[in-house]
Amino acid sequence: MPQIFTTEYKGPALEKPIKVTVNTGLFIDGKFVDPIEKGTIDVIDPTNGKKIVDVAAGTAKDIDVAVEAAQRAFKTVWGTKTPGVERGRLMNKLADLMEQNIHEISAIEAVDGGKLFIHALTVDVQQAISNMRYFAGWADKLQGKTIETDDSKFAYTRHEPIGVCGCIVPWNFPIMITSWKLGPALATGNTIILKPSELTPLSALKFAELASQAGFPPGVINVVPGYGSTAGQAISEHPLIRKVSFTGSTLTGRKIMEAAAKTNMKRVTLELGGKNPNIVFDDADLAQAVKWSTLGIFHHNGQMCAAGSRIFVQEGIYDKFMHAFTEASRTLQPGSTFDASPTVQGPIISQTQFDRVMNYIASGKSDGAKVHTGGDRIGKQGFFVQPTIFTEAKPDMKIVREEIFGPVAVVVKFKTEEDVIAMANDTSYGLASNVFTTNLARATRISNALEAGSVYVNMASVPDFRVPFGGYKQSGQGKEMGEYALEAYTQQVQRKQLPGRPRRRRPDGVGVA
Ligand code: NAD
Repeated sequence: MPQIFTTEYKGPALEKPIKVTVNTGLFIDGKFVDPIEKGTIDVIDPTNGKKIVDVAAGTAKDIDVAVEAAQRAFKTVWGTKTPGVERGRLMNKLADLMEQNIHEISAIEAVDGGKLFIHALTVDVQQAISNMRYFAGWADKLQGKTIETDDSKFAYTRHEPIGVCGCIVPWNFPIMITSWKLGPALATGNTIILKPSELTPLSALKFAELASQAGFPPGVINVVPGYGSTAGQAISEHPLIRKVSFTGSTLTGRKIMEAAAKTNMKRVTLELGGKNPNIVFDDADLAQAVKWSTLGIFHHNGQMCAAGSRIFVQEGIYDKFMHAFTEASRTLQPGSTFDASPTVQGPIISQTQFDRVMNYIASGKSDGAKVHTGGDRIGKQGFFVQPTIFTEAKPDMKIVREEIFGPVAVVVKFKTEEDVIAMANDTSYGLASNVFTTNLARATRISNALEAGSVYVNMASVPDFRVPFGGYKQSGQGKEMGEYALEAYTQQVQRKQLPGRPRRRRPDGVGVA
């Protein structure tokens, strides 16, 4: 029998202690079960490197069982068998349960992911709830079109669910990204195999428990924690999974496309990495630009696909910006998960990621870029890194070209619009960009010249469930959130009709009856 993990958290941000319970098994066909091969994953608290708990590690055999359950549910109780109104009702019920348990889910997400509790509460979990409600509203509004072809013929289109969908989620915003996938997937009638990251599986297991309480039929939502090379790979290769929605690194995205191509040509949508430009013009509101540039690269330690990691600053505002930006970065200090101050900086998620970030910092130093501030680890326990700003970097350095996924910004001075557009677009990625200017015409001109799925003017990326999000180039394909996300989980089919009876002359010889 799977174990139940129970604990209690206390801290300045909490009015009263929060009790947490998580079932640590696999959630398949409406029940928590043990994995067939009995493997486990050590879930680590990144603030101290200590184990929080073991959870079950699913493998290809468990994915087979989960797919069988999801396939059965799709054919018998979900898909086109449950009207959209009912799907929406269940999704709203789940959102209500998430809201009733928002403190518990936020505590789980914060401890597991090395986030500040108040950030998890006000951003991640709140967004996840809003997203479920938004897509619940779409569940009964999926309509095709009628297309007249000539006098007596017409075609109509239907937006059908795809079938069993594999949803593979990373560790940086687990519950929020889960909702980006499951919101549109459930609203459109698909059944799900959700694989959270092995680094942060806990909130997905809580989500499964609440989905069961909400009354989703068994098999509609299956949650199988596991490693990428086993459970993840099994999802991308499975012949009965018709679609994979993946968020993670570009490297893994490539493997998923390859596996899909080699097996059943399943549909694939990908939300991948970024090396995003953050452009500050001379005419920017300095306070706004500093506030958002700081959040844009240092929120959650820069472990964000949309992190504004390449900061381009026009020469006239450069000195003032650098002074204020450096000061702002220095206000971020390490602290505990349940601290009440929003300027507390958490740790990097794992030893591996910590080593990766420190190696990038070392490469910047050895390649000749200048550490303007930061550049070291903090303390000896946990995986804390100083907010780091590099200057004097060259365009071909690794710290300029590669996604670091840590609190590391590279600041570059520029002269003209043309220069900055060329530098901003000189990347294999194209996820998001931030532009700071008070000139509306310039804002529009630059926004349209940037090769980025999203451009934010006088702000940095803040996900909004109503607005589509996705990348150009190697940042991915397909959209999450907003109405556009529905397309990723439906197949639009056409049905063309001939008139019901043969055309014949009317007896009076006038026209066609
Ligand atoms: P990752 O690619 O290592 O892992 C992501 C998920 O894929 C995990 O669940 C992992 O277990 C699984 N996985 C790993 N190997 C697999 C394989 N061979 N087959 C199938 N699944 C496999 O990425 P990560 O380190 O968890 O996340 C960081 C990356 O995610 C960064 O590059 C970041 O930019 C990107 N990201 C993108 C977005 C976006 O919306 N574009 C959002 C968040 C994170």
